[in-house]
Amino acid sequence: MAIYSEYDPKIVQDELKALLPEAALSTSYFERINNALDPYTSSDVITQDQVPYAVVRPGSTAEVSQVMKYANDKKIPVFVRGSGTSLHGASKYRHAGIVISTRRLNHLNIDKENGYAEFGPGHRVLELKTALEKEGYFLPLVPGSIRVASVGGMINNNSSAHAVDTCMGKPRDYILGLEVVLPTGEVIETGTKGLRRPAGTDLTQYFVGGDGLLGVITGIRMQTVPMFCSAYGVAYFSDEITAAKAVQRIYLEKAPVPLFLEYLDSRVAKIAYQIQDLPEPEGSLIMFHAIGQTNDEATHKINRLVETIQKESIIEAHRIEDLDEWHKIWLARESALPYICQGGKGVFGLSEVVSTVKDLDKCMEDTKNMHKGMPTLEKLGEPYIMGHIGALTFHPVYIFPADWSEEEKAKGIEEMFFKEAEINTRYGTVGGEWGQFAKRTPFYLQRYGKEMYRLVKEIKKVFDPNGILNPDIFRD
Ligand SMILES: Cc1cc2nc3c(=O)[nH]c(=O)nc-3n(C[C@H](O)[C@H](O)[C@H](O)COP(=O)(O)OP(=O)(O)OC[C@H]3O[C@@H](n4cnc5c(N)ncnc54)[C@H](O)[C@@H]3O)c2cc1C
Repeated sequence: MAIYSEYDPKIVQDELKALLPEAALSTSYFERINNALDPYTSSDVITQDQVPYAVVRPGSTAEVSQVMKYANDKKIPVFVRGSGTSLHGASKYRHAGIVISTRRLNHLNIDKENGYAEFGPGHRVLELKTALEKEGYFLPLVPGSIRVASVGGMINNNSSAHAVDTCMGKPRDYILGLEVVLPTGEVIETGTKGLRRPAGTDLTQYFVGGDGLLGVITGIRMQTVPMFCSAYGVAYFSDEITAAKAVQRIYLEKAPVPLFLEYLDSRVAKIAYQIQDLPEPEGSLIMFHAIGQTNDEATHKINRLVETIQKESIIEAHRIEDLDEWHKIWLARESALPYICQGGKGVFGLSEVVSTVKDLDKCMEDTKNMHKGMPTLEKLGEPYIMGHIGALTFHPVYIFPADWSEEEKAKGIEEMFFKEAEINTRYGTVGGEWGQFAKRTPFYLQRYGKEMYRLVKEIKKVFDPNGILNPDIFRD
């Protein structure tokens, strides 16, 4: 582990003041704490020695570069922050340092003639989605955190979130090039301006899904995706295993994989439907959104999916023709998590279990039973389960009661990540959304071994010889 110089916050603040325009720096205690919180803070509190020295809000790449050069020279840790919504602890800092908030790096140019958009990492995903949709394009980043998460955070995780990989691919498949500030302060530009991606070594691929280890992404060039026609469907199941079998069948029978194929277990579905004023659903459900060049093509795909799913013994499945009904069902999915938290009067713990196609039903069973043998989780029983079942992903959710002690909640979260690792190891899979290190470092070691971990660390050293950028991503 790198050794960092310890500084008097006042000295760092004064030196940054001399370096940056006023709008690019906040030294307020509130902002410093606020920019160091993560969604699991209730179980992972910040101590005094972890409070950032300052929050830098650069408005340009040149300002990012200046801060990195300064920090590298002084060996001060730098934490890049999109919106701090990482669910595996990537936005939890264990050292004091400088936080670079990307919020003001929010330029946008939609270049229709060249078929790409260039933008800064600081946009909230929803902002960028709305801007692209106005011009007739789809943004292939669709997280549950769409209103808050930054596009830089998503691209750093290479997560397309709800979108099914086998239909839409990952951000990596759309990113043509990046502007990156290296930990030493140099600015590099990767990739191409053409729609033909480079063959061979292309450093773009190191930074997309780079876990915040190698550089600060300050500019993104992404191929635009023309908007398509859509059709929708829903299916209800009396038990979870049949829902998993229906999805297996979609793959095995080569039915068209939809853009979105989401799952809610019966408990979550009931709460979520109630909130949206929808009739109480029977059992668990999957909802699906297929796309095509024409309405007929999208509808044909939905019909094919409904027919395929109906081969299992299900309650019912149908195409949804009423757009309002679809929007309500989709909103039920999107708003489920906050409402179960409210109902359970506590804070959530969420993990990400990924299956193979063949074992999806077994994996569902394992996920339902993830509390077994775990002393803290057993107090809560079966998790709520939702997720991107089309992408073979389940999110088991625990609501840790507000009146539990911090230690007890922390233990619950630890057990949850332990079980996540155990199940993913069983199926030879890895998390496809949030990144590989932070709370998942033990899993990475277990899954890929010491040699691969050593290689990752060596690669980091090449880019970041003083280990100042996001040093807490490695947790060993
Ligand atoms: C309620 C809720 C729902 C969620 N739903 C989903 C979901 O459906 N799918 C999904 O994938 N995730 C989901 N997430 C997790 C989270 O929103 C994503 O992981 C998101 O990608 C993180 O974005 P962020 O801007 O908050 O990143 P942060 O948490 O700020 O950062 C995450 C990591 O990225 C690094 N980073 C951020 N920006 C840059 C940059 N410009 N250059 C280099 N490194 C950078 C940070 O240093 C950090 O290591 C959810 C989170 C919540 C709280």
